[in-house]
Amino acid sequence: MDNLLNILGSFNPDWRGKKWADDFVSVIKETVLPSYPFLYAKLENNKAVFPDEWSQIITALKEADIFKLFVPARYGNQKASEEDIYFMMELLGYASPGLGVVFASHGRAVDIILQGTDAQKDQYLPMMAEGAFGAIAMTEKSAGSDAGGIGLMARKNGAGYLFNGEKIFISNSGLAEIYTVLANTKGVKGPRSLSLFIVESSTPNFTVRKLPEKDGLKILPTGRLIFEDAPVPGENLVGDEGRGLIGSVNVIDRGKIHIAGICCGLAYRIFREVFHYVQRREQFDHPLTQSQDISFQISDMFTKMTAARGLCFHALKQIGTPYYGLSSAQAKLFASQMVMETASRAQILMGGRGYFKNDLVNQLSSDARGMEYLEGTSNVQKMLIGKHLFRSYRE
Ligand SMILES: Cc1cc2nc3c(=O)[nH]c(=O)nc-3n(C[C@H](O)[C@H](O)[C@H](O)COP(=O)(O)OP(=O)(O)OC[C@H]3O[C@@H](n4cnc5c(N)ncnc54)[C@H](O)[C@@H]3O)c2cc1C
Repeated sequence: MDNLLNILGSFNPDWRGKKWADDFVSVIKETVLPSYPFLYAKLENNKAVFPDEWSQIITALKEADIFKLFVPARYGNQKASEEDIYFMMELLGYASPGLGVVFASHGRAVDIILQGTDAQKDQYLPMMAEGAFGAIAMTEKSAGSDAGGIGLMARKNGAGYLFNGEKIFISNSGLAEIYTVLANTKGVKGPRSLSLFIVESSTPNFTVRKLPEKDGLKILPTGRLIFEDAPVPGENLVGDEGRGLIGSVNVIDRGKIHIAGICCGLAYRIFREVFHYVQRREQFDHPLTQSQDISFQISDMFTKMTAARGLCFHALKQIGTPYYGLSSAQAKLFASQMVMETASRAQILMGGRGYFKNDLVNQLSSDARGMEYLEGTSNVQKMLIGKHLFRSYRE
């Protein structure tokens, strides 16, 4: 763990000496890391159900003021830089990638509310700073990579809206108290028909349902959201009608860097396991590391991981510039492919034991595969990178 902190610190030395960071590292070391192998979430009766260790983790994270770091200082009395939040994501990725995605999704919901009115911010951000989880709901059965196909209808009904339709694969389902939902307000498909809303979990005729069991990221509750004439107040519209997709894209660029950070932390965890294993494991009367092929694989893994972190820090530096969308897509693309490659190499280096579900590298590899889909697949990142390049460098 100390080695990890030195490696993380090499890119972002500023976190050292901050009280929240010391508290956060202690929670990770003492509570989150040891609980990884047996921490699973279930969805029952619309609620995410966790083992007792979950509430211990969340209480410890609340006491360390981690929720407050996701909202501006005005609402939580804490100040965190973009690099600080990224550092948290790497560390969560190392200790419990699914929990990392819980917080990344929560952070995106906060970011959407930050685009809203002062009244919306005053109503929801203090709750979120105290530990009410958020979620961001875009994907539908027939609208995944292409959000323009979203059909969940938000039909005007007096001063408010009536919601009808379904979202799938939504992180923090049943856990969140505040859902930020991209819905269709025009009745015709297309990006200009989409609007963003805040939907409280207590909304009548809104239910959360289970999905089949996931391959990895077991701690992350992922479910379906069902709306059947669910009334949503007009004042819960975020921004203007028809501008929801633009609002979501701004938020997702930041999310990509956070998911990429989780990938980097997770890759380091997998790397660390296999690095120790190949030094210990002897075959043909010598440790596996004496095989040049194996030491080259270890070198490749570590180099690509460092390259991915370099892209993440490059993207962090582009915030506020026209290159932010391009560099965050590059970071997500490279980091998620890097962690999947690290995982599949590591599983092979673990020999037959890596094929069994009780093996830690096996479990972490299942988590790694899940990173492909979050905040857009690799092909979607490539589409975005291409679009940026052809637009910016036409000559
Ligand atoms: C664990 C998990 C958590 C998630 N959490 C959330 C969440 O919190 N909120 C949310 O809204 N969504 C969430 N999702 C959904 C996720 O964002 C989608 O799965 C993702 O956007 C891909 O959509 P899809 O699954 O419908 O695949 P599709 O869009 O159907 O794509 C299928 C395949 O085709 C490729 N493809 C699609 N179009 C093209 C094209 N034009 N050119 C080339 N290739 C293409 C894709 O890359 C992919 O490989 C989550 C998913 C998972 C697995």
